[in-house]
Amino acid sequence: MTDAAPDSKVLHRSLLEHPETVTSADGSYFTLSNGQRILDGCGGAAVAAIGHGDADVKAAVMEQMSKVAYAHTLAFTTSSAEELADTLLDGNPFGLCRAYFVASGSEAVDAAMKLARQYWVEAGQPHRRRFVARRQAYHGSTIGSMSVGSHVGRQRPYKDALLLNNVSYVSPTYAYRVQRPGETEGAYARRLVAELEAEFEAVGPETIMAFVAETVGGATVGCITPPRGYFEGVRRACDRHGILLILDEVMCGSGRTGTYFAFAQEGDVRPDMVTLGKGLGGGYTPMAGVLVHRRVVDVLARGSGTFVHGHTYQAHPVCCAAALAVQRVLKRDRLVAGCAEKGKWLEARLRERLGPRRYVGDIRGRGLFWALEFVKDKETKEPFAPRLCFASVMRREAHRLGLAIYPGSGTADGQAGDHVVLAPPLNATWDELGILVDLLESAYDVVEKTLS
Ligand code: PLP
Repeated sequence: MTDAAPDSKVLHRSLLEHPETVTSADGSYFTLSNGQRILDGCGGAAVAAIGHGDADVKAAVMEQMSKVAYAHTLAFTTSSAEELADTLLDGNPFGLCRAYFVASGSEAVDAAMKLARQYWVEAGQPHRRRFVARRQAYHGSTIGSMSVGSHVGRQRPYKDALLLNNVSYVSPTYAYRVQRPGETEGAYARRLVAELEAEFEAVGPETIMAFVAETVGGATVGCITPPRGYFEGVRRACDRHGILLILDEVMCGSGRTGTYFAFAQEGDVRPDMVTLGKGLGGGYTPMAGVLVHRRVVDVLARGSGTFVHGHTYQAHPVCCAAALAVQRVLKRDRLVAGCAEKGKWLEARLRERLGPRRYVGDIRGRGLFWALEFVKDKETKEPFAPRLCFASVMRREAHRLGLAIYPGSGTADGQAGDHVVLAPPLNATWDELGILVDLLESAYDVVEKTLS
């Protein structure tokens, strides 16, 4: 790439080229070392919840650094960790009563998986050894989180050697490709729940620890939303067998979909654990966590009284201080309610301006979390050949025009899903959202022309 130092010693994702250098970031914009300004239309992958360079977060980090930068959690807690947990768990939302803070979403998912196992061991049912998860899901890149995910591309080199073999998979809520023609939303939801119940029966429900799912699917096929009634049905199916429900909201949580928890829009659903990440720390520090329901905490409290797990940097005081400051900005500026409102506007513009275009097969999402899936043929939904990857071409063109968007590799599980994700800061201005749509459309125009 143009501005890259040729002799970088950083092991970048690509060993053949490496990305351009960002020298500063402010509000919704990055500035590159060549002076180009880039509108951050995706926050990496839905990370930059309150934009870049927030003065209050900087002040909170500096203050925490000067008070205490690190204290090991075996012997100590800190006010920033305690206040962050108090803030997230104020009033025990949905029965959630404890927070375990880590540095990444993958660690949060691994922690949830371990909590599930420990719960069953201490509840006297050690024969529960299995997870059920969903195809085309992404839960992270550690061994555990990768195993409950289904990112075929990321799993390929490790499949036969490193992945867990106690996971089975059911269909995702990928309406564009899974809902049948003429099938109502209710019938589609019931069919997916019936498939889950059938999987429980096939595997043996008494052997299952937990069902793991993203509430709104993020990275693999992009912003797939559940049909109404689906998660209520899932909860009932889990309850019938005592199976724990782990909702992964690393990408879709922390206000991104217009409610703090994405599952709050799914009726009466109380997960046993919820993972958060990305927007939790807004990108200011590595930050993620798992929020745990009283049901799980009580069993551990009555049993060993410990969670048999630990990371050197868990509940890191500076990371917690940054995340706490992010939560305060969200609240002060009413950004979650604003996200719902801006999201409706963004949806309407995307549908109006890009919906009718030749290669735009589907537009889906919620709040400020939207994906566009590209197909070669809108009638048949035939995807482009994987080697083309429309989304990557779009990303490069948008970048050239000054817009960052997140491309989904598509072809997960051998199916389509060639898409880009939009996840601008929740405090992006109306003007910036307008510019985002303009630039996206311009990028699309260029790519469409090159293919026609
Ligand atoms: N879970 C979900 C739903 C994600 O989207 C991601 C990352 O994209 C993860 C977990 C893993 O998070 P991290 O990359 O911080 O380890």
